[in-house]
Amino acid sequence: MKILVAAHSGFCYGVKRAVQILDELIEEHDENHPVYTLGPIIHNKQVTEFYEERGVKVIEKLSVFNDNGRGGERVVIRSHGAPKKVYDDAEKMQIEILDATCPYVKKIQNTVSTYATKGYNIIIVGDSDHPEVIGIDGWCDHSATIIEKIEDVEKLTDSDAPVCIVAQTTFNLTIWKDITEILKKKFSNSVIHNTICLATEQRQQACRELAEQVDYMIVIGGKHSSNTIKLANICSSVVKTIHIETKDELDLSILRGDEVIGITAGASTPDWIVQSVILKIENEGEVYFDGKS
Ligand code: SF4
Repeated sequence: MKILVAAHSGFCYGVKRAVQILDELIEEHDENHPVYTLGPIIHNKQVTEFYEERGVKVIEKLSVFNDNGRGGERVVIRSHGAPKKVYDDAEKMQIEILDATCPYVKKIQNTVSTYATKGYNIIIVGDSDHPEVIGIDGWCDHSATIIEKIEDVEKLTDSDAPVCIVAQTTFNLTIWKDITEILKKKFSNSVIHNTICLATEQRQQACRELAEQVDYMIVIGGKHSSNTIKLANICSSVVKTIHIETKDELDLSILRGDEVIGITAGASTPDWIVQSVILKIENEGEVYFDGKS
């Protein structure tokens, strides 16, 4: 059996940065001053549990402090970002914000805010339930039209009103191209910003290339991680694929022993989880590991 790891896989720049900000904050704090994150710091259960054990508390909204807060709480905004209202509320409530919004996401928020102020209608191509999309929408007063799939575009009425179109950073590049081709025809006065981030493009392209060379793809990452799900979808359109969170979900009996196995991991999957999957497979027999981790 041979294992190949995708050339681009695992933690991206924005996730590494968010985790580093949280780590530094934990170092400075004592148990009387807990550190909070607004939503899980990243979409990975094992990482979230690791931080919970170190005293980090996950809150879903700042209003939890209305009754229980002592003032001066420190809340980390995760890499997905948050709506403008969160920053405004934090200021009013004297909550200190540690902003780990990925700079690429921050740039989209600024773009949306600028164009909305100029009177453009905003279209976000992405998952309407995803925190990043909800956050971006919150920088144009939640006025954006969210497009998830081609069928959504077809329902829109043609217009020559000015429109600014952006993408969720982890959106599927191929579907984005199809959607924007139709949007261009519907909206004659549109400004299109391809805001899919390089890390996403690289991971999607690398996993597709790897899937074409192997018998089986293993995609590692959170079951709620948008970018991991997209990698799994791309791989499964090419070759037999399984999506697992950890080594414990890997049933080795599904492998015959003579296949070439491809491995990729979402942008929120730490390297130790990837390595533990590889080790589990390796322990079953002879393995030639010639990929990058
Ligand atoms: S996937 Fe891209 S935009 Fe999202 S956190 Fe990572 S580097 Fe930032």
